[in-house]
Amino acid sequence: MRKPIIAANWKLNKGPSDTEDFIKSFESRLNDLPKGVDLVLAPPFISLPKATELLSQSKVRVAAQNMSEQDNGAFTGEVSALMLKEVFVSYVILGHSERRSIYGESDELINAKIRKAHELELKPIFCIGETLGEREGGQLEEVLRRQLTKGLEGITEKQILDTVIAYEPVWAIGTGVTATPEQAQDAHEFVRSVLTDLYEVSVSEKVRIQYGGSVKPANAAELLGQKDIDGALVGGASLEASSFAELIANGVVE
Ligand code: PEP
Repeated sequence: MRKPIIAANWKLNKGPSDTEDFIKSFESRLNDLPKGVDLVLAPPFISLPKATELLSQSKVRVAAQNMSEQDNGAFTGEVSALMLKEVFVSYVILGHSERRSIYGESDELINAKIRKAHELELKPIFCIGETLGEREGGQLEEVLRRQLTKGLEGITEKQILDTVIAYEPVWAIGTGVTATPEQAQDAHEFVRSVLTDLYEVSVSEKVRIQYGGSVKPANAAELLGQKDIDGALVGGASLEASSFAELIANGVVE
């Protein structure tokens, strides 16, 4: 039985003071939420120390939204894995479609980042997903297989168990259009079958695969109720503590 994991990706929203307001409001709701779920908040870099400080006694963990594959040196604007560890970050989102499409991150670069994260014992939330054109052009499986195979090159069985995969169809991110539960389940089943090609089945069965793309309180139950969907990566609906809490309450059945 895989424990669900629900993560909030705030993108370029919430400086330290908005982060504090959210966490205070969210923590006051935690007692009423299901317990059998891992919860993660991913604020912008500048708000990470505030988030980890406020959550130091909480079960809620903190993720960065990106990180450098480098340790240090002349890489203006970058943040290293060691720096994230220093401020008690536990997870790091890597390969998000916005990083791939807007900042040109390649499968190779994402692989280097995933390796670096594991080297420093940060848990990657590794995002994959197809564009609408790729889906309509019949390339869904080819794209997912390529992203997974290249992104996970050199990642050991032990490390994959500490990796969360986030399947996020690009056409569903921030658009209000959600994959149907059947479309999402089919893609997740395919992702798990690729993991089974790469690792022992006893390992691939344990890897958690989140769905991301316009998950909201109203559709969380149906999506997270699918056999191979082990949680959600949530953008828009995670920006208000009330809506994120409602989504968790609806999505996790205990
Ligand atoms: C995301 O950014 O990972 C995401 C899924 O966003 P949204 O929930 O807004 O579609």
